[in-house]
Amino acid sequence: MKVVKFGGSSVANATQLRKVADIVLDDPQRKVVVVSAPGKRFSDDVKMTDLLIELAGKVINNEDYETALSAVMDRFREIIQELELSEDLTETIQKNIQYIIAAHESAEWTLDALKSCGEDGSAQILSAYLQSKDVTASYVSPKDAGIIVSDEPGQAQVLDESLEQLYKLHEREGILVVPGFFGYSKEGRLVTFPRGGSDITGSIVAAGVKADLYENFTDVDSVYCVNPNIVSNPKQITSLTYKEMRELSYAGFSVFHDEALIPAFKAKIPVCIKNTNNPQAPGTMIVAENEAGFGKVTGIASDKGFLTLYVSKYLMNREIGFGRRLLQILEDENISFEHAPSGIDDMSVILREEELPGGKEERILARIQQELNVDTVYIERKMAMVMLVGEGMNSTIGLASQATRAFREANVNIEMINQGSSEVSMMFGVDAEGMERVVQCLYREFFE
Ligand code: ASP
Repeated sequence: MKVVKFGGSSVANATQLRKVADIVLDDPQRKVVVVSAPGKRFSDDVKMTDLLIELAGKVINNEDYETALSAVMDRFREIIQELELSEDLTETIQKNIQYIIAAHESAEWTLDALKSCGEDGSAQILSAYLQSKDVTASYVSPKDAGIIVSDEPGQAQVLDESLEQLYKLHEREGILVVPGFFGYSKEGRLVTFPRGGSDITGSIVAAGVKADLYENFTDVDSVYCVNPNIVSNPKQITSLTYKEMRELSYAGFSVFHDEALIPAFKAKIPVCIKNTNNPQAPGTMIVAENEAGFGKVTGIASDKGFLTLYVSKYLMNREIGFGRRLLQILEDENISFEHAPSGIDDMSVILREEELPGGKEERILARIQQELNVDTVYIERKMAMVMLVGEGMNSTIGLASQATRAFREANVNIEMINQGSSEVSMMFGVDAEGMERVVQCLYREFFE
C-alpha cells in the first residue's frame, strides 16, 4: 500500500485536481490519499488557509464577515463547478462553515475549526470527483481515521495511539481520501497542526498503515543538491537518507517541513518526493540507509539569519561550570541556541536572529558581563551558515581541504567551522554577504 500526499499547489484548482486523480488511479497501490487545502494558483494568489484565517479573524472580532466568507466559497464553488460535481457539495461545505461560525465557541476553537475547512473541502471534492469517475472512493475524516492529537490549538502533536487506529484503514474498501492539517484531541475537539501541517498527516498516516512507500507530491521534480535560487539548474538528488534530509533542511533547504517526516522515518517508511506536474520524473527517494559513495557530498545547504554571541575570559578552560552558566542565562531568557563552538578562553554561541530581538540584547549582554565576569562579550549579526551534507563524508580524508579551497576562490572568510560528531555534515559560519558566492564555489568544487 502506498500513501500519497498532495500539497496545496496540487489541489489549487480543477485542472490540478484532475492531475491528482490521474496520478492516484495510475497505480492501484495508491490507496490512501492525503490532501492540503487549495494553495496558490499564481504567485500573488492567496492560499485557502489564509482566506480562512481572515474569515476567522472577522468572526472572532464580531466584524462583518460576509466578504471573507464569499472569498472562501467562491474558490470552492469554482473548483466544484469546473469538475462538474453536484452543487450539493458546495452547500455541504458552506453549511459546515456556517455551523462553526454559529457555534460561538472559544476564539481558539473557531480559528482551528475554520482553518481545517480548506483541507476538509479538498478531501470531499477529491473523493466526489473520483466517485464521479466510477471509482470506489470515500472521504475519511481525521476523527474517523483515528488521528488523535494533543490539545494545543494550532500546535497539535500527534499522539502515539493514532498509529494503531490508523492501521485499521486497511479494512476499508476503495481509495480513502483524508484531509491533512488537523486531528482530534482525546476529548474529541478539532485541533490543527502548525502551518504546513498536512505533511504531518501524510507522514503519520503512512506510518500508521505501515505503507510500503509514502509519496509526497509537490511542484518540484526533486530535491536539488543546492538551492536553485543560488545555483541555476543544479543537479537533482535521486536518493538521500533521513539523516541527510534532516541536516539539509535544517539550513533552509527543505521543500517541506522536515519534522513532519519524523513519523515516517521512525516507522522506516521510504519517502518519495514527486512532482504533480511531471509525475513521470523519478523524484527523490528518502531512505533509512543509502549506499552513498565514499567521500560523497549529497548536498549543500545554506541559510542566512544567524548571529554569534561571542564571549571570552582568560582561563575560561579552567573555570568549572562556565559553559553551563552561560547557557543557563540563555535558558532563563527562553532562548534556544544552535551551536556552541569553543576555544580555550572563548566560547561562541550561535543563535537564529529571531531568538534574540534587539530589545533582549542589552539585558543579555549585561547579565553575561555581570554574572560571569567576562573580559569580552559582544554580538555579531548578519551571519550565514553553509553546510556540506553527506553520510559518505564519514571519515573521508581531504574533504575539508576541498571545501576550504572553495572558500579561497570565493574570497570569503570562514568565521566558524563545526563538524558534528556524526560526521554527516560540516558547517561553516560566514558573513551573510559572501554566502551565495561561497555556495556557488562549493557547488563547482563538489558537483561539477
Ligand atoms: N493548508 C495548511 C497551510 O497552508 C497546511 C498545509 O498546506 O500543509 O499551512
